[in-house]
Amino acid sequence: MEASGAEVFDVIVVGAGIMGSCAAYHLARRGRSILLLEQFDLLHHRGSSHGESRTIRVTYPEPYYPAMVLESFRLWEEAEAEAGYRVLTRTPHLDVGPAGDRCLRLAVENCRANSVPVRVLAPAEVEEMFSGAFTLPEGWIGVLSECGGVIKPTKAVAMFQALAMRKGATLKDRVEVVEIKKEGANGGIRVATKGGHQFRGRKCVVTAGAWTRKLVEAVAGRVLPIQPLHTTICYWKIRSGHEEAFSPEGGFPTFASYGNPYIYGTPSLEYPGLIKIALHEGYPCDPDRRNWETDLGLQARKVAPWMEQVMPGLVDPVRPAMTQSCMYSMTPDGDFVIDFAGGELGEDVVVAGGFSGHGFKMGPVIGRVVADLVLEGAAPGVELERFRLRRFEEDPKGNAKEFEDQVRSHGPPSRSSL
Ligand SMILES: Cc1cc2nc3c(=O)[nH]c(=O)nc-3n(C[C@H](O)[C@H](O)[C@H](O)COP(=O)(O)OP(=O)(O)OC[C@H]3O[C@@H](n4cnc5c(N)ncnc54)[C@H](O)[C@@H]3O)c2cc1C
Repeated sequence: MEASGAEVFDVIVVGAGIMGSCAAYHLARRGRSILLLEQFDLLHHRGSSHGESRTIRVTYPEPYYPAMVLESFRLWEEAEAEAGYRVLTRTPHLDVGPAGDRCLRLAVENCRANSVPVRVLAPAEVEEMFSGAFTLPEGWIGVLSECGGVIKPTKAVAMFQALAMRKGATLKDRVEVVEIKKEGANGGIRVATKGGHQFRGRKCVVTAGAWTRKLVEAVAGRVLPIQPLHTTICYWKIRSGHEEAFSPEGGFPTFASYGNPYIYGTPSLEYPGLIKIALHEGYPCDPDRRNWETDLGLQARKVAPWMEQVMPGLVDPVRPAMTQSCMYSMTPDGDFVIDFAGGELGEDVVVAGGFSGHGFKMGPVIGRVVADLVLEGAAPGVELERFRLRRFEEDPKGNAKEFEDQVRSHGPPSRSSL
């Protein structure tokens, strides 16, 4: 097989979700020639970056994420200004949970360490501030930050792809990459597709989402601890007369409820009269053999009781009005993988995956970091050590966390909760 055309791209990016699209944009704006390859149609719904809403928030129990989110806020705004339209709606962000919850307390500390103002609120203050939309149980607190918002994912991916193309990037869809190899003595990378085409690049980036483990194992023989989970987003009907209280115009925040179950939601925005309230969990799946079933039983067992407790009488908990499927790519510690592929591919191939259900907001900063890493070999401004693969060689559980119970509760449900 001959490589298509004579062109050698500076970087070939494999996978056009938010991470690949942001990486392509950041690489192209540095004047590099970029080829972005996607196995399905651009903007398809079979991965992790499609749909109508993703939360952006700074409140993280890990100290290394707030600065990344703050950089991302700046990069989202920069890209919006360049595109001439918005993909992010700013809202407050509210975290709620038991006053003693370790994650919640660490999230407050980490915001303050990054000069992000947060207010710790008593249940009555939360109830008053959000027109009675939240009724917190005795002993709970609210943590309110003005640094939140809702991002439109499909529109955001399209924006970065369009900006990358404007900077000269080439995008090809319906091209499944099956091989990534070093070119031999002259260096460079040869990428082969299932359809028999080949492309040549000086470097390569793999941003394959839930397919990352499969692809990296196939091309580099390295098994990454990234487990795809099939997950379901639910939209619930707001009871008549209360719609305003749940809208961004009515001041309703993006929110997360800490503990087990971990529940999150966004203001009523994309579908009038409906609100997204979802469970941060899913079922292990093979990304090429999903059964697409929605486990309404799990939603009913975990989300509905939460709604009856925290939003009593305001949202219809009987069954979701609408559901959508998506995939998480979980690592054992819930932290990202951003590293060189190693082995024969050495530092010519960078892998960015395992975004563990919370990566979208950081797409722009990941794009910047991946561009730095693949072009310069280092990425200043982020604690890359946290995202290196060798952490799993040192301890299969990865980065040590002070709140492991919380990390585990985001993973696959135990047999007893199925
Ligand atoms: C229900 C749900 C809710 C979420 N909520 C939030 C949130 O509120 N806030 C937040 O920050 N994050 C959130 N996330 C997480 C976030 O959406 C993901 O972390 C992010 O979208 C991952 O993007 P990605 O580019 O890594 O993966 P993907 O979007 O899946 O992109 C990978 C792409 O690679 C392609 N590909 C794979 N293999 C190949 C191959 N061999 N050849 C060519 N192409 C290939 C795939 O087809 C796919 O298009 C949520 C995720 C889900 C599922």
